[in-house]
Amino acid sequence: MRAIRGATTVAADTPQEIRAAVSELLLELAARNGLKPEECAAVILSNTSDIRSLYPAKAAREAGFSASALFSAQEPEIDGALALCIRVLVLAEGDGKAAHVYLRGARNLRKDLGKFSVALDGPSGSGKSTVAKILARELDILYLDTGAMYRACALKAAEAGVSPDDEPAVARLMDALDLSIEYRDGAQHTILDGHDVSGEIRRPEVSMAASKISALGCVRKKMVEMQRKIAAEQSCVLDGRDIGTAVLPQAEFKFFVTATVPVRARRRYDELCAKGFTVDYSALEQEIEERDRNDETRAISPLRRAEDAELVDTSDMSIEEVVAHIRRRIQERV
Ligand code: C5P
Repeated sequence: MRAIRGATTVAADTPQEIRAAVSELLLELAARNGLKPEECAAVILSNTSDIRSLYPAKAAREAGFSASALFSAQEPEIDGALALCIRVLVLAEGDGKAAHVYLRGARNLRKDLGKFSVALDGPSGSGKSTVAKILARELDILYLDTGAMYRACALKAAEAGVSPDDEPAVARLMDALDLSIEYRDGAQHTILDGHDVSGEIRRPEVSMAASKISALGCVRKKMVEMQRKIAAEQSCVLDGRDIGTAVLPQAEFKFFVTATVPVRARRRYDELCAKGFTVDYSALEQEIEERDRNDETRAISPLRRAEDAELVDTSDMSIEEVVAHIRRRIQERV
């Protein structure tokens, strides 16, 4: 007999939330332990006292676990306990190792099950930042867009009238740089000199300036230090150009996400148009090629696939397919 533990959280005490969270938890737990729902002999659930709108056991039955002995109970109120939390103990035949499953806000309950980092590198327009964002939300871990940090450096230099070619002047700017990354409702905000520049750094002219300034050692040194510090504190997905090769060479998961130049240019074009920028497609294609060249040929931490990174060519894949592929790879091991 195997005893398998798991837990998850709901965003609000509503029957829909409880149904979705319990179903996700139990199906994930069954899949990771190679079980069909009917092979789970007993499903014992408990919930914190702030959950009152639906018995988790009822949600389990609705999720297809009707052949199991189902039981749910309310937990004592413990000061400081994780709110809106549902826990489960599944008993099933077999003597293999139990894979315990902690999802959403409950992931942090079992830090011993492992902090991990996901490095997603690749050229611009490969889809890596969209993928990284969704992946981080689904795995309930932090997402760090490292490109935003280089963009902020480029913006700082432009505002100060400093050319990216003037390394001593850029180095002085870096010494006094006031840059921080904050998260609000799960979204990354880039704060430069006390101002939120998250929108401004997306301006097309900042892209090329970021590509130039990011070649400088004084800039990379400072950014890499900040990125390592953030990644040391929690599980996270980092997207960039040098995460798997230089920032986190020990990352547990490494992917190199790419696509052909026309596909990437089309994606950038659609993205910028959706944001209201007027852009010329062929100029964008040229810019992508030039940025690739800058990123791939620079002396320090050039863009390249780490030897142990899995290559994911997204040219003919939807975002959903890329996310599902990478998520499967990660969940096979955590
Ligand atoms: O990914 P994004 O297009 O926002 O990045 C802007 C620029 O910052 C890139 O063209 C690249 O030159 C640089 N960059 C980098 N290393 C990273 C992330 C971005 O050099 N880890």
